[in-house]
Amino acid sequence: MSSPPVALLTGITGQDGSYLAELLLDKGYSVHGVVRRTSNVVRSRIEHLRADPQLYGSRLSLHYGDLSDGTTLRRIFAEVRPAEVYHLAGQSHVGLSFEIPESTCEEVAMGTLRLLEIVRDQEQPVKFYHASSAEIFGRASESPQTEKTKTAPASPYGCAKAFATQLVSVYRQSYGMFACNGILYNHESPRRGQNFVTQKIARAAARIARGLQQELELGDLESRRDWGHARDYVLAMWMMLQHPEADDYIVATGETHSVRDFVEAAFAVVDLPWEQYVRQSAALSRPTEPGRLVGQAMKIRDTLGWQPSASFPQLVQEMVEAELAAIDRGAAATHHP
Ligand code: NAP
Ligand code: GDP
Repeated sequence: MSSPPVALLTGITGQDGSYLAELLLDKGYSVHGVVRRTSNVVRSRIEHLRADPQLYGSRLSLHYGDLSDGTTLRRIFAEVRPAEVYHLAGQSHVGLSFEIPESTCEEVAMGTLRLLEIVRDQEQPVKFYHASSAEIFGRASESPQTEKTKTAPASPYGCAKAFATQLVSVYRQSYGMFACNGILYNHESPRRGQNFVTQKIARAAARIARGLQQELELGDLESRRDWGHARDYVLAMWMMLQHPEADDYIVATGETHSVRDFVEAAFAVVDLPWEQYVRQSAALSRPTEPGRLVGQAMKIRDTLGWQPSASFPQLVQEMVEAELAAIDRGAAATHHP
């Protein structure tokens, strides 16, 4: 019997890492995740996998490491000898990157360089996926954006991702490495971090409906995003590494919705008039916002056959219902369904 393919994931405890780990385990992979030391050892998004004795310690393993610690990452590679690497780790919040620009750039930009150098030194062939972002386009010169649109980041996060994205393509061209950039537009799910606007709204709608919160304070309601479902987007990551040639792909729905649209849809799920509960606060607006970010995902559709399956109303409904269910289970503070 041949041994299962081996995948190494950075950022396995994050939204995308947890869905990708599930997908790969379902496909029979042996999955290794890099986790950093935190004061709280409960990693809520992957706890269900870690608690499964059929998986943990056999086809799922976790290794302590940090993007800033090249020596340890190199040691993990030597031990695991991965065939596929999915690099998802890093500070992922655009707004926060204005507050912590140095560590954001260190993790997102230099962390990726460190990994590329390690991959370059591997004896076995390694396929490398990099979690790039629509934020590299920032003040985009055209809309919708394609793989050919010029980068013009509008935040420290966008700058760091643009640097890392360009490096991935330089390493592919210079060393013939199998390295792909997935240029992903915003994708959400019930596992989205709580400081992103979709999760903040879904959680507030559910808490207000259950009498646990009185109002919801938001920044710019007219801001628009191309929002997809994380489960669809991790499938796109895997598909990129199964194609015979490495390349860069936009992953997007091609539709935008405003924060206001999200609010309306979320409060409709709990049947409440949102105008009575939502307040706008200038303090929550950002120093700069990107222009109209919307992706044209034609290349990935035509080349890999990928397209999004979840609609915007389905996404909103799933997120609000997950929050309601968590409250009803009495686990609202820490749950990740
Ligand atoms: P997320 O939920 O914030 O997860 C980030 C992951 O990175 C977590 O596992 C986190 O570990 C880990 N991490 C952060 N800093 C690290 C460090 N210094 N060393 C090791 N691990 C570190 O993000 P996500 O939504 O899953 O996104 C995955 C990737 O895609 C990110 O790189 C993000 O920037 C990018 N991306 C996301 C979107 C989106 O809409 N979600 C769109 C485009 C690109 P802890 O659990 O310990 O914090
Ligand atoms: P981002 O696209 O990665 O920055 O994802 P976010 O979910 O953090 O923000 C999406 C958009 O919602 C941005 O244009 C924010 O300015 C806007 N927004 C409006 N109110 C809020 C808020 O209270 N929190 C966050 N995080 N974003 C908000």
